[in-house]
Amino acid sequence: MPKPKIATCSLAGCFGCHMSVLDIDERILKLAELVEFDKSPINDIKNFTGECLVGLIEGGCCNSENVEVLRSFRKNCKILISVGECAIMGGLPSMRNGIPLKECLDEAYLNGPSVVDGQIPNDPELPLILDRVYPCHEVVKIDYFLPGCPPRADLIWNALVALLTGQPADLPYEVIKYD
Ligand code: SF4
Repeated sequence: MPKPKIATCSLAGCFGCHMSVLDIDERILKLAELVEFDKSPINDIKNFTGECLVGLIEGGCCNSENVEVLRSFRKNCKILISVGECAIMGGLPSMRNGIPLKECLDEAYLNGPSVVDGQIPNDPELPLILDRVYPCHEVVKIDYFLPGCPPRADLIWNALVALLTGQPADLPYEVIKYD
């Protein structure tokens, strides 16, 4: 029987949540026995090769490309999981949500102390910046949420094993954190 597939992506995130996936250490060998990795920065597969059982999403949506990728994960993954505070609540990138977008762009590209002859990028090849950073569940349906910045490796491991084996998740207090 073919193994179920798992896919991962980083939207507006820092890759710290992916580092936490790798922090399951030698259990990654056990994970490789249970699943096959599909589209993911971990193996550098760029496109889906078929339907995946699980999609792990790091980061929220700050631009049009993030939205497009997130929608493709919803379409190709049976179970979609928001991993970490950026995916769940917008995280650090959403600190710009209280400031008008124009003000953010002006500060970054025109008025910042290190800017010389600045201009706001407007190449049509670039993804459009959204008015604010959106948590993933405001864009597509999310099935599960793994909190933390990043979530502990044990939390990711326990949740994946539960999903892949159909057993109840073992989530003791010590493996869950909200910062
Ligand atoms: S939740 Fe934390 S570790 Fe994960 S992408 Fe956001 S800032 Fe990075």
